[in-house]
Amino acid sequence: MNLPTRVPRRVVLTAPDENCPFCHTHLQISQHRDRAIRTIPEDLSLIMRDKKCPSPTCPQPHLRFRSTEESRIALPHDKLGLDVILEVGHLRFHQHLGFPRIHATLKERGLPISEMGVQYQSRKYEALVASSVTSSQNAVFEKLAARGFLLPIIDAVHYGSGEAVVYLIIDGLSGVPLFGQETVVRGKIELVPFIRQLTTLGLPIIGVVSDKETGLAPAIAEALPGVPHQFCQRHYLGNVATAMEPDLASLGEDVRKREEHLREFQRDLVRLATKAQKDGKPVPPDLSTALEFCEAARAAARIHGRPTTEPSPIKRHKELKRVQEAVSRAGRKKGGIGRCSKDCKQSSSPLRKRVGLRAG
Ligand SMILES: [Zn+2]
Repeated sequence: MNLPTRVPRRVVLTAPDENCPFCHTHLQISQHRDRAIRTIPEDLSLIMRDKKCPSPTCPQPHLRFRSTEESRIALPHDKLGLDVILEVGHLRFHQHLGFPRIHATLKERGLPISEMGVQYQSRKYEALVASSVTSSQNAVFEKLAARGFLLPIIDAVHYGSGEAVVYLIIDGLSGVPLFGQETVVRGKIELVPFIRQLTTLGLPIIGVVSDKETGLAPAIAEALPGVPHQFCQRHYLGNVATAMEPDLASLGEDVRKREEHLREFQRDLVRLATKAQKDGKPVPPDLSTALEFCEAARAAARIHGRPTTEPSPIKRHKELKRVQEAVSRAGRKKGGIGRCSKDCKQSSSPLRKRVGLRAG
């Protein structure tokens, strides 16, 4: 199966912090970093604008403040998104699918990945949910200790009601996973001891970032009393959007089928045009128009949206509707797509049907 080319979406991520948490000086942008990340729905071209404290008297002058969003998109040094690791783990360990099936599923969803790549992501998932930093002989801990404080991101990844939940604690400044847990229940009773593991590291926690997931906020307040808690708006939106996922998947499938039908139909039209040329007859203008509409509708069915705010299936459906309206308008015009030679009369009606146009 040939996958459509994925044009990376440019995303600029700026460190959200305004002032240095240590000396309260206004932070300045100190560097731009580029990262190319491949997630399941799209390729991203990330531009990170990191900040640092300009004060010569700052106790943490070497610290780089980053966007916490980057740690949520991908683990450090990875080229594939964190969503790929989590989805592979979900399909492997919750849905019990074999690697070839997972590979086929991800390719169907547009992600270029090899079967070996799937196996590698599965091992990463196992390591991720088993992450547990301790304060003894641990390279990750040594780096945290040298910095002298923690700024963790706490995340919950849901797979639907009755399904597993994956909890992750990631270091907000380096993006390194600190603790992971896979559980089927999601209550404060399990969450509090999970979050409290942070305190066993014996380092001051200057703040916590999380989404507004039910259960997460009260659990954080109980496990880490007095620690400032910051919510991540974009992630919150992402959580709300997960409720739409089954509908989006079904809409996406519907759009994919329509595109498939259009491709077959386009082939028929090309055959008609070739036959006319062979017979020495001119290609009816409406046939050319129908072909152009086909091309436009197929391009619309492959367009990329934005996760959360405008998911691809919705954008594709909207674009298809625009083409559908254009076909409709052309059909009503004298000499338009619906008023032509016999061949085109036949061709326009399936085209309308195939872009989802109701009869009438
Ligand atoms: Zn400072």
